[in-house]
Amino acid sequence: MADTSAGFTCNSCGSRNVVLMTKWRYVFFMSSLPLVTAVLLGFLFHSVFYLFTPGIILMNIILAGKKAPVKICKDCKQMEYRARPDLSHN
Ligand SMILES: [Zn+2]
Repeated sequence: MADTSAGFTCNSCGSRNVVLMTKWRYVFFMSSLPLVTAVLLGFLFHSVFYLFTPGIILMNIILAGKKAPVKICKDCKQMEYRARPDLSHN
């Protein structure tokens, strides 16, 4: 899903085993399930559900703008929004 990012360490446990989710990765990740659901509902019930799809994408782009990049620690599952490289460890 994401690459291990050099220069990033976990604030909680100090592990370097962290992944970084960029803005568009975050949008894709957060949109995929609601989009599939909306398309499925539109297919099964009523085409009005298709109207939700631009809203879902737009909402996640706005959210990603506030939260991304997201740093996720693989060891303790800590998530940190608006992560920046930890230069003090260089
Ligand atoms: Zn950690």
